[in-house]
Amino acid sequence: MAKTLQSVRGMRDILPEQSSSWQFIEDTARKLFNSYGYRELRTPIIEPTELFKRSIGDATDIVEKEMYTFEDRNGDSLTLRPEGTAGCVRAGMQHGLLHNQQQRIWYIGAMFRHERPQKGRYRGFYQAGIETYGIATPDIDAEVIAIAARFWKLLGFKNVRLEINSLGSNEARQAYRQVLIEYFSSHQDQLDEDSQRRLHKNPLRILDSKNPKMKALVRNAPDLLDYLDNESREHFEGLKQRLDKMGIAYHVNSRLVRGIDYYNRTVFEWITDDLGAQGTICAGGRYDGLVKQLGGRETPACGFGIGLDRLQLLVEEQGLDQSKHNPHVYLVMAGEKAELAGMALAESLRDQYPELRLLANGGAGSFKAQLKRADNSQADYALILGENEINDNLVTIKPLRKNLEMTEQQSIAQSDLKDFIKKIVSTLGTHDKG
Ligand code: ATP
Ligand code: MG
Repeated sequence: MAKTLQSVRGMRDILPEQSSSWQFIEDTARKLFNSYGYRELRTPIIEPTELFKRSIGDATDIVEKEMYTFEDRNGDSLTLRPEGTAGCVRAGMQHGLLHNQQQRIWYIGAMFRHERPQKGRYRGFYQAGIETYGIATPDIDAEVIAIAARFWKLLGFKNVRLEINSLGSNEARQAYRQVLIEYFSSHQDQLDEDSQRRLHKNPLRILDSKNPKMKALVRNAPDLLDYLDNESREHFEGLKQRLDKMGIAYHVNSRLVRGIDYYNRTVFEWITDDLGAQGTICAGGRYDGLVKQLGGRETPACGFGIGLDRLQLLVEEQGLDQSKHNPHVYLVMAGEKAELAGMALAESLRDQYPELRLLANGGAGSFKAQLKRADNSQADYALILGENEINDNLVTIKPLRKNLEMTEQQSIAQSDLKDFIKKIVSTLGTHDKG
């Protein structure tokens, strides 16, 4: 027998038993973003390679070694998007959404990076994000952070913490860059291989080193916050003041620099200790220079990206998914006459109760076989239509689990079924009481 094909390494199937927690997270995200007045932007999964090179930066992990880049049949270099911001800026410029106006945008979708797969880190993964354009003041940085804070509240997360920092203006960053190069050059013998390579290309990234041997050297490095320009300092104070007022706790981490080049001023990460090494669930900040860098006009911008795969691990680990998808009822239809009547009945119930989750038996089968399927389906009740029921215009309701509204099997007139359905779709099922 031929070997069955497998998915590409690092690319995941999300199976039906996991899909409920995914839907819980995504539904919550969509509602939340819409509630703050943000609107969805969907961009293609494939973009010109140039877009990511010019935005994310040549000396970043993503562009250096993680992109899925290929030539299409015309010989154009294309890349599967590794993140969402570049595509939003590209689309915003192309459709005139950015210049001289304010925009609040969200997205959800698949991203691709060729990294070493491990728990919480995959080659195909999902991000949700928001982006704001045209607002330069720290109120929007605070709003962006508050949206993430509310997301965790809605999902029920405990133990997530916020770290913030300011990278200052581009000029301040350049000055700090020089100071850092001097500092690290004078300790060249202590630099690991990665840091040697970054020393002149991207010295700020050395601060982000995960190598324990580099810890002391990084700790004693000059402090970024000492090199901030006055405007950035004021901006940062404005942000902190607003976070304080809103009751959002944070920790200032002057070593936080982020792995993408386009940030300036505010950067932040939300981190949990419950996922091991892959603890950052959300990262973002301000990127006022990016639109211009990509050929547009100067446009202030601020946003974040959330790793949904990591949220899903947290939701499962902390048992937070309350939304259940098990059927309210499984419709048993014994015999052809019952099946004909049953399918019509099911459609009329669905007309009346769009929230009703009704799983209709498929493929006929004996009464016993159908009841077994009903049980396996996790439905709360079986609705039974047999020959007797059809002849007398009845339907039999059989509770399939404990602690339900109705505890004993009973037969009722089909015309009374509406009242029963109304009750079970408006009260929580046993599963939902959880
Ligand atoms: P890391 O340091 O973990 O590699 P990053 O700085 O590369 O993260 P960003 O580009 O800021 O991450 O992406 C935002 C969020 O997307 C991350 O905080 C993380 O939650 C998620 N994420 C990034 N890469 C992956 C991946 N390969 N698999 C799953 N989630 C990811
Ligand atoms: Mg990364």
